[in-house]
Amino acid sequence: MNPAWVRNLIYPLHEQIMRRSTFANLRQLEESQWWDQQQLQGLRTLKLRRLLQHAQRQCPYFDSMFKEHRVDPQDESPWACLQALPLLNKQTIGDHRALMTWQEAPGGLVEAVTGGSTGEPLRFYFDKRRQAFDKAARMRTHRWFGVNVGDREVYLWGSPHEANRQDQVKTLRDRLTNELLLSAFNLTPTRMDAYFDQIEQFDPASIFGYPSSLFLLCDYGNRTGRRLSPGSLRAVFTTGEMLDEVQRRVIQEHFRVPVADGYGSREAGFIAHDCPEGGKHVTDENIIVEILDAEGQPSEMGCVGEIVITHLDAFAMPMIRYRTGDMGRHLTQACGCGRGLSRMRIVGGRHTDHLVGQDGRRMHGLGLIYILREMPSVQKFQIRQEKSESIRVQIVPSDGFDNDDRMHITSGIRRCLGKETAVTIETVASIQSSPSGKFRCVTSEVDTAAVVA
Ligand SMILES: [Zn+2]
Repeated sequence: MNPAWVRNLIYPLHEQIMRRSTFANLRQLEESQWWDQQQLQGLRTLKLRRLLQHAQRQCPYFDSMFKEHRVDPQDESPWACLQALPLLNKQTIGDHRALMTWQEAPGGLVEAVTGGSTGEPLRFYFDKRRQAFDKAARMRTHRWFGVNVGDREVYLWGSPHEANRQDQVKTLRDRLTNELLLSAFNLTPTRMDAYFDQIEQFDPASIFGYPSSLFLLCDYGNRTGRRLSPGSLRAVFTTGEMLDEVQRRVIQEHFRVPVADGYGSREAGFIAHDCPEGGKHVTDENIIVEILDAEGQPSEMGCVGEIVITHLDAFAMPMIRYRTGDMGRHLTQACGCGRGLSRMRIVGGRHTDHLVGQDGRRMHGLGLIYILREMPSVQKFQIRQEKSESIRVQIVPSDGFDNDDRMHITSGIRRCLGKETAVTIETVASIQSSPSGKFRCVTSEVDTAAVVA
């Protein structure tokens, strides 16, 4: 499909049918990225006031929080009101979901389940407004690298559901939007060979995926001498996990284009993204990032603390002072690119290992996470692969966790990794973070690189 048709016709039409103002938002974001901090702060103050007033009127949970902490966003500084509110975490949202939700959000509510990074599933709601802002923010960062809306994009991504879904609908949608979805699960050598062929033929402007999966693909390409011919590729975008410097270098050298990393999550939104000058810019117009110390107070400027976000356009389920569990810091210097958007650095974040199946296939840890996070009877979990062919799952159960659930988990894991995989399931009262404080819900002690060779 001609990228200009997708950009000017199909995509705008799709967003219109979905009743999302994505393209108007994009135009606005394209302009405001060049504003200075003072102008941006003015916009943020306006949007924060509107969000807090909305939350007070439409969501009983927030109304009672304002009362309890004796602030009123109707006539006080929105920043002071924000600071007075307690932090939100997955547990709070789980406990008060109905009271935090604006049931009459225009265009309806879209339910989502997430929890890939922490092992604690979270059910929450999107509304059209929020989706339109998150999408526009993503489009803007692609354009920083010369990748426009409608340009061909390969996704090394996907849930097992998507990978298994009947291909016709998917293929039609992908053709219409110039997207090619390749499953990041089950990265066998045969499959990676096929991916190289498919990517070569598709000739994308960008490739998008988990850092760990892209690294595996590039590492495999380097070992076997596979490399794409020079074509339209302009950038590789990573997200979903910490991108470490080795991964960045290997991916960049393999594809010979810049690697740009995005930081965000489904529940928190599109928080920050690398620019071509190397700075990670915050989506200041849509998201407030607070960096808090262990006492929940703002860290000294430039010091590391927990990243807590407020999504200024999440109206169906306001995410106000949501704890991401990731660590980071604000950067103080302006960026060489000239954009007024503030900058941050992520210093410790999510890391998901790949697991190894019986036939040597490597599977992104999310493949198993999907099985567990859909289960209401599982509160929290951790998956460990200590050696090939054996998986240990620790579970903090909710009420009703029973033998059927155990069988469901075992068969799900065997479907992913092989019929003979030994699965041990333990129920525990709590799961501790690693000594570094970082919680990893999938870890493997099997050397996946050795298996590639
Ligand atoms: Zn920049």
